[in-house]
Amino acid sequence: MGYIEQVLERVNNRDPDQPVFHQAVEEVLESLAPVLDRHPEFERAGILERLVEPERVIMFRVPWTDDDGGVHVNRGFRVQFNNALGPYKGGLRFHPSVRLDIVKFLGFEQIFKNALTTRPIGGGKGGSDFDPKGRSDAEVMRFCQSFMTELHRHIGPNVDVPAGDIGVGGREIGFMYGQYKRLTRSWEGVLTGKAYGWGGSLIRPEATGYGTMYFLRELLNDRGVDITGKRCTISGSGNVAQFCTEKALDLGGVVVSLSDSGGSIHVPNGIDRDMLAWIMELKNDRRGRISEVAERFDGVTYREGQRPWDIPCEIALPCATQNELDGDEAQALVDNGCVAVCEGANMPCTPEAVAVLHKSGAGFGPAKAANAGGVATSALEMTQNATFDNWTRTEVDNKLESIMKAVYKQSAEAAEEYGDKGNIQRGANIAGFLLVARAMQDQGVV
Ligand code: NDP
Repeated sequence: MGYIEQVLERVNNRDPDQPVFHQAVEEVLESLAPVLDRHPEFERAGILERLVEPERVIMFRVPWTDDDGGVHVNRGFRVQFNNALGPYKGGLRFHPSVRLDIVKFLGFEQIFKNALTTRPIGGGKGGSDFDPKGRSDAEVMRFCQSFMTELHRHIGPNVDVPAGDIGVGGREIGFMYGQYKRLTRSWEGVLTGKAYGWGGSLIRPEATGYGTMYFLRELLNDRGVDITGKRCTISGSGNVAQFCTEKALDLGGVVVSLSDSGGSIHVPNGIDRDMLAWIMELKNDRRGRISEVAERFDGVTYREGQRPWDIPCEIALPCATQNELDGDEAQALVDNGCVAVCEGANMPCTPEAVAVLHKSGAGFGPAKAANAGGVATSALEMTQNATFDNWTRTEVDNKLESIMKAVYKQSAEAAEEYGDKGNIQRGANIAGFLLVARAMQDQGVV
């Protein structure tokens, strides 16, 4: 049995109840065979065995009371996966589906994504099985305060700097930051995604979506495709989906769908800026459902319980959650003339979907490269906090754009160097891995 197979077997046997984590590990390790052949020193240093084991896993009780005085107990997590390159960095997810398996998968992916940004940040992730849907602001605040009451002992601006993810936006970051500040008596850049005016960076809210579109543009350029007039199907309607849509409009794309966990909307003539502004207000302020768009606007069809991948398009951008685009759906996209799929969400395409895309010759932008703009801009927020400085919108946006171009270039070059030109998934895994593996080697067996 080869080195990679041995490590995969150990991961599967150690935690048989973590299938999504196994999926993420397998996806990375299987890309690395040509690197490990060329660099036997990584096996001697036990790099893979150490990479797949988080440095630290923190699990804790989060008790809180609802508006009627009822007591609830959720579970909190922080997985500090790898800090070879810098303080642990990665989002917090609040969603009922959160369990250790999901947090480990996200934390593992984050190691390589953060490396690709070339900022000094390690990989981590956290969250809770708390569901903010339908909760009042006061309930969300009490939950966030209770969550931070435990988490604050494990994080710090040079230790671990969490950010948002599904279910954690500006409101939740504000409540958690307030509690951290109260408990530690210090104002420091311990969370990113803060509001502008008290430590936040301009462009951070937009960064993941904008960055995904900058990355997509590089992918399309390489294939001689111009995005102007191309139909884009987008899933989700949260932070990433909203700003992918905004940047797609800036670049001349036609966005024909959005979705939430209830279903999707089809907008054959494309979402315009007025409709997008209305959707942002619906989702961010009124916290409503995507179905309401069809009630408010003519020419919009709501498709209950359906994902958008059967809608004809040239470009698909899954921006909701993991494993939301399967092999059959990828085939439907390809059959309808889709030329590129770029992952705004983390691991939204199943391995079967990725195989279909690679076989068909469609472009594929993997999450750990394509959506790295969010964490890259979080690192820019950390720099601004550390220097007590604020940069302009243009300054941050320009840095984001050049980081995304560099992420694409590194991934494309690594794919070519290791004999698989055009396979950006393999290239991103290899480029990210090499940065982390070399740092781990330099730092000894720790
Ligand atoms: P939000 O909470 O803002 O939005 C999530 C969207 O996805 C909502 O429309 C939600 O619908 C939908 N969704 C969530 N879970 C499911 C599900 N199980 N099935 C169908 N739809 C679902 O999150 P973000 O936009 O921040 O995150 C989206 C993805 O992007 C995640 O994979 C996240 O890890 C990734 N990401 C986010 C970054 C960021 O900066 N925010 C950075 C990098 C990656 P509903 O409202 O009905 O739940």
